[in-house]
Amino acid sequence: MWHRGWRDEAWAQLDSPWDLIVIGGGITGAGILREATRAGLRALLLEAGDFASGTSSRSSKMVHGGLRYLANAQVKLTMESVSERERLLREGRGLVSPLGFLMPSFRGDHTPGWVFGVGLILYDMLALRWGHAHYDARGLLELCPVLADQGLLGGYRFIDATTDDARLTTRVLREAVNGGSIALNYARAESLLTRQTGQVCGVVVRDQAPGAGRTAEVRAPVVLSATGAWADDLRVQLGGPRRLRRLRGSHLIFPFSRLPLTRAVSVLHPATGRPVFAVPWEGVTLIGTTDVDHTEDLALEPAIDSTEASFLLAMATFAFPSLELGMKDVLATQAGVRAVVNTGRSDPSKESREYVLWDERGLLTVTGGKLTTFRRMAHSALRAAQSRLPRHVPLDNRLPVLDPLPPERCLEGHVDPALCLRLLGRHGAETPMLVEAAEPGELQPIEGSLFTWAELRWAAREEGVVHLDDLLLRRLRLGLTLPEGGLAHLDRIRTIAQPELGWDDERWTQEIERYRELWRTGYSPSAS
Ligand SMILES: Cc1cc2nc3c(=O)[nH]c(=O)nc-3n(C[C@H](O)[C@H](O)[C@H](O)COP(=O)(O)OP(=O)(O)OC[C@H]3O[C@@H](n4cnc5c(N)ncnc54)[C@H](O)[C@@H]3O)c2cc1C
Repeated sequence: MWHRGWRDEAWAQLDSPWDLIVIGGGITGAGILREATRAGLRALLLEAGDFASGTSSRSSKMVHGGLRYLANAQVKLTMESVSERERLLREGRGLVSPLGFLMPSFRGDHTPGWVFGVGLILYDMLALRWGHAHYDARGLLELCPVLADQGLLGGYRFIDATTDDARLTTRVLREAVNGGSIALNYARAESLLTRQTGQVCGVVVRDQAPGAGRTAEVRAPVVLSATGAWADDLRVQLGGPRRLRRLRGSHLIFPFSRLPLTRAVSVLHPATGRPVFAVPWEGVTLIGTTDVDHTEDLALEPAIDSTEASFLLAMATFAFPSLELGMKDVLATQAGVRAVVNTGRSDPSKESREYVLWDERGLLTVTGGKLTTFRRMAHSALRAAQSRLPRHVPLDNRLPVLDPLPPERCLEGHVDPALCLRLLGRHGAETPMLVEAAEPGELQPIEGSLFTWAELRWAAREEGVVHLDDLLLRRLRLGLTLPEGGLAHLDRIRTIAQPELGWDDERWTQEIERYRELWRTGYSPSAS
């Protein structure tokens, strides 16, 4: 589908008429494309960088109701999120997994523990599932022996979920493309096309892939911007004021051996009282997030700064003092930028996280919200576009957001049973082809990671990789989960990926240089 040569095939179709153009290939754009495809619309998605290269690969990896939103009285957002979490847990098996959370209370916390107890009752009522329990300090330490015992009063256990955000985005996109739509990465919507009436009717798109530089005019009655933190950049082309505030959230990533958690832990930061999470994910543990104004140029890779790193380390030291965690233990870092409507509040965390939908001279912008609620956002956006679409779009809430998986038995005898569901969840209907494409020994994990060599080969062959960072940071998450961005495995990565990608030695050298620099500035512990 995204085999070698697919970009040229896609590019050749751009000047044909479309029903809908979606700008932005994060989870929001992917969700819209998926639902539009299901409705039989001729839909095109344009992504300036790689799919999910924006915030949708840089989240805290939680599919959650968001207890914090309840604290801000955002009940509607929590209700929607809880119901979407339940749906994704059902439909996204192998990709969206339940995860236990602990919420300890310490003497001197900014918010007393009983407040969360009330929140959790509401949380469970919204999910129609009783999933939380209270523990005293000893009970909590049995569940998490590395937790601080000093001042520990007790706390709650509850269930949320976790996912691989970039893989979720890729799976939704691929299901849309399998359904007949086109999704093109490294294709920037540079400017908006307008009719004489001033209404937006298309975009000028520029190919950002190496050596390309071509442009095309693409037209459709509906242009939907799902450009996240970049949304103002398109909106202001129509003459309106900037309305969004960009907030950066950063994470420190520790190897499991240094921060061994089997459940996520949410602790109120001792300095600010903001909840900070430690989340076990893909064999590592993430600590995050911060919430600070991002004033840097969005063309640059966002990166954690030293103040954020100290803030997160202070939480790690407070919550897990016996581990004596320091920057020397940090494997990698990750920073993402969200868009919120700017109301000018001094505390960024008080700005609403609910998504917004604006229709300005025919440009529909949908931004904000959460990874968890992408399907809801897609429905709202398509509902708003309805009057300009060529046919009625039946937005059926009962239809699954993800296609059903092939049965696990189709991999029997080929794949270790423990790996089956994981591969199916990440690759959906394409899993049997991925397994068939594997060379002997490639269904083994890449040492130190949960990803297999077979996935690396498949991604290089079929998943629209344009740069090496697409492969190592997003199709597989080696850049976040292995020391030095996974470069210790470079020889075997090259043996598999270079021929699949059709790169000569010069291109390979350029890609390695690009990856090293990108990892150093955006993901390495010294990025701060
Ligand atoms: C630190 C942090 C942690 C989070 N954790 C969670 C979590 O645990 N759970 C959860 O549910 N939510 C979480 N969120 C929220 C969630 O990650 C975001 O809401 C979601 O990823 C936004 O997706 P998006 O598609 O709207 O934006 P993005 O993923 O940023 O996608 C927008 C895309 O548009 C592209 N683009 C921009 N301009 C153009 C153009 N002119 N032409 C073409 N393409 C363009 C960009 O390259 C980008 O890829 C978190 C957010 C942050 C910041």
